[in-house]
Amino acid sequence: MPILVSGGDGFIGRSIVDRLLFAGYSILVIDNHISSFPRKDTKNSNYCIFEKDISHIDVNDVPKVSGVIHLASIASPLVYKDNPSLVIDSNTLGTRNLIDIAKRDKVRILYASTSEIYGQLNDQITKGTGIKENEFSVTKLLTERSCYASAKRLGEELIVNFKRQGGDAGNFRLFNVYGKNMDLKHVGYGRVIPNFFNQMKKGEPVQIFGTGRQSRSFLWIDDAVDAILGLFFYEGELPSAVNIGRNESISIIDLAETISNVLGVSYKTSFLPGDEDDPQWRIPNTDLISALTGWKAKVSLREGLKMIADAEKIND
Ligand code: UDP
Repeated sequence: MPILVSGGDGFIGRSIVDRLLFAGYSILVIDNHISSFPRKDTKNSNYCIFEKDISHIDVNDVPKVSGVIHLASIASPLVYKDNPSLVIDSNTLGTRNLIDIAKRDKVRILYASTSEIYGQLNDQITKGTGIKENEFSVTKLLTERSCYASAKRLGEELIVNFKRQGGDAGNFRLFNVYGKNMDLKHVGYGRVIPNFFNQMKKGEPVQIFGTGRQSRSFLWIDDAVDAILGLFFYEGELPSAVNIGRNESISIIDLAETISNVLGVSYKTSFLPGDEDDPQWRIPNTDLISALTGWKAKVSLREGLKMIADAEKIND
């Protein structure tokens, strides 16, 4: 029986599916291809795709599966600001449909949530130790950006509710995963690393939103896949929520500088107004996942950026 991966043709999904196929698993992907492409190499008989929106599937059309990894969601503010229902539906209606499948087949469901749900935290509370999973969420409501955190928070509630009823379920919260081919479909998809690469390579000014002193912790895609699959195959009971991230952060200004060093180019900056609720810092506390699975991020930011630069040189 296949493992069902929703959003399995997206940026993170593709890498998870590759890894599972390589290990010999059979995979059923459900993806509507709004922010992803269909695979070209569909010859692998272990890979099957339903090009559908998980928010509107009929659960009876989905064959019996051996587990569910739910990644399907728009992640770019540029896309969901114009169309919030896309992000709301896939994380609420879509999560409910996938829970129904997990319930029917009595299998595990693992849901991809986000560090965005922590919102704007007070520096004094957690900056030293990193954000723990039981931290309060401090988010502004009803902004252009808030639909994402609100939808993910509701998705988490549905998963934990299923868990309380005896289901095998858990949430993980990703902190800024990056890698090659992040914006194949939408050039300028909105995420900071592909944007800065594109702008520097074209000799355009690097657009920094806000002061540029806001910071993020960036996690290399293969480290993220190790962590997600470590949880998926974890043999004990899953906790309600687990952080997945690298516990080192960098300001957006310093990120631009690092990318320019890696590319060996000079650059100019242009400062634009930032979102009013753009989180000012984010560092995960990853003690929980390390204790459960022994996972730790292996790839430094510089190493990851270098791998992107090298891959782009080959494609140029
Ligand atoms: N950002 C930026 N220039 C860009 C894209 C993003 O300065 O071209 C900023 C953005 O405002 C945020 C940070 O970089 O503070 C990370 O943005 P991204 O969308 O990659 O991730 P998220 O905001 O979801 O953490």
